Amino acid sequence: MKYKYNGGIMDERMEVFLETFSEELPEYLNEIALKAQMEHVPVIRRLTGGVLVFFLKAFAVKNVLEIGTAVGYSALYMAEGKKDIVIDTIEKVPKRAAQARKNFEKYDKRECINLIEGDALKILKELSDNQKKYDFIFVDASKGQYKVFAEYALTLLNRGGIMVTDNVMQEGEVLESRYAVVRRNRTIHTRMREYLYDITHSDDWNTIILPVGDGIAVSVKI
Ligand code: SAM
Repeated sequence: MKYKYNGGIMDERMEVFLETFSEELPEYLNEIALKAQMEHVPVIRRLTGGVLVFFLKAFAVKNVLEIGTAVGYSALYMAEGKKDIVIDTIEKVPKRAAQARKNFEKYDKRECINLIEGDALKILKELSDNQKKYDFIFVDASKGQYKVFAEYALTLLNRGGIMVTDNVMQEGEVLESRYAVVRRNRTIHTRMREYLYDITHSDDWNTIILPVGDGIAVSVKI
């Protein structure tokens, strides 16, 4: 069975067509994505994974920070796509972190993927206090916190480093009027629009927003 996602912003036929040009993945990654889908754990779409690996290779990335591990799918995807990288990945939900840890062990990636359990805000502060630096940061955690994650990313990235932020189009909802969005999603809708404005009008970042997967913002630290 092949995993399939609903709610993408791209026409489904186009997405399936483009996926046929993607690199072959080890079968276990498809199995993890399928299991995640059945358990309602959101993971990156196939084309998003392809874009991440493209950047890792094109910019000769050596180390990665991921915010939002879930069960480890995207970290494993990146580690399979580029063999010589080291990934620190942060997850705050214990059950998900435990599953990710199991997956990293099972697929022999303990050497290159370091799971950091806890709330990203606390961990990002610790990492920046310790003057840790990364070539590439993948932001895929709570959307309401993107602004503060980007502030930390600026400190944690090397100059010329790249930050990719996922789900910036909120399954297409971001382009709707605030009043067309159900009340419970309005705060996040406003925050995402503000985030997109800030990141595209900043002297610190050079950003392009791409309609890949659920929308990604690719930002290079100037
Ligand atoms: N990147 C994963 C993948 O594609 O396989 C999917 C990540 S999922 C979209 C988002 C994850 O971020 C969830 O598992 C959630 O528990 C975690 N998360 C959200 N806010 C967080 C925070 N402040 N600190 C750490 N983890 C967080």
